[in-house]
Amino acid sequence: MAKCCNPQPGDKITGIVVRGKGVSIHNINCPRIKYIPRKRRLKVQLQKISAEPGFAVNLDIIAKDRIGLFKDITATIANYGVNILSFDGSTSLPDDKVRIQLKIVIPNIDDLLGLMKSLESVPQIVQVKRR
Ligand SMILES: [Zn+2]
Repeated sequence: MAKCCNPQPGDKITGIVVRGKGVSIHNINCPRIKYIPRKRRLKVQLQKISAEPGFAVNLDIIAKDRIGLFKDITATIANYGVNILSFDGSTSLPDDKVRIQLKIVIPNIDDLLGLMKSLESVPQIVQVKRR
């Protein structure tokens, strides 16, 4: 989450691809994103934090970097109906790999295991683990 506009669940937001850092999430009205070229923006959506009981999980995703990777990850998670609490961006690893750290809220362990399996089937994702 970008500190400049501090997006909240339910806000219209956009993800900005930052070279070497992954994606930062801004409110769509954030003045800082006005001059960012559209091709560097990702469509992302923060869902409302659900009232259902759930627990926060930190995930570490190791993947071979490629165009569209972040979009596929956020889409996979969104399809699962899971809330992304934070997307901490990515760290470059050797061999063109990246580590992506995110925090999600998930209702139960079965959903978590299912989601991790779905993420592992995203092309170029090498490993998904809890942190
Ligand atoms: Zn911002």
